[in-house]
Amino acid sequence: MSKPLDEYREKRSFSKTPEPRGRKRTKSGDRFVVQEHDASSLHWDFRLEIDGVLKSWAVPKGVPTEPRIRRLAVATEDHPIEYAEFEGEIPDGEYGAGTVKIWDSGRFALLKREEDKIEVVLEGERLFGKYVLVRLKNDLKNWLMFRVS
Ligand code: MN
Repeated sequence: MSKPLDEYREKRSFSKTPEPRGRKRTKSGDRFVVQEHDASSLHWDFRLEIDGVLKSWAVPKGVPTEPRIRRLAVATEDHPIEYAEFEGEIPDGEYGAGTVKIWDSGRFALLKREEDKIEVVLEGERLFGKYVLVRLKNDLKNWLMFRVS
């Protein structure tokens, strides 16, 4: 049986990347972070602290700041909570090689959590308001993310 951060760790070589190895926490806080990740293609990683890890999505066009703009959000592996503070250079040849910068961070309130739907209220510097993530039908990884109000 795989453990919560196995996939995250299997993809990385911690002797080469400055990313944190991290560990699963028994308690979850209420932090969110968006990291601008200039990798092979530029994207923004949206992460919510849930179940002692950071649930993560890669948003190719960026998290919308205004209501009614729908953006594809591709689910990626859970990251450790420590990752919320990570900024830096992932070296060439390593998974996700490129520059990571924190684009926004803050707190969130979880309004709804279902298998295919998550509703949160974000309180960040750039992002605030109610956001919804909905998984596409018959799809494992692809979600839509939008601001509701
Ligand atoms: Mn990324």
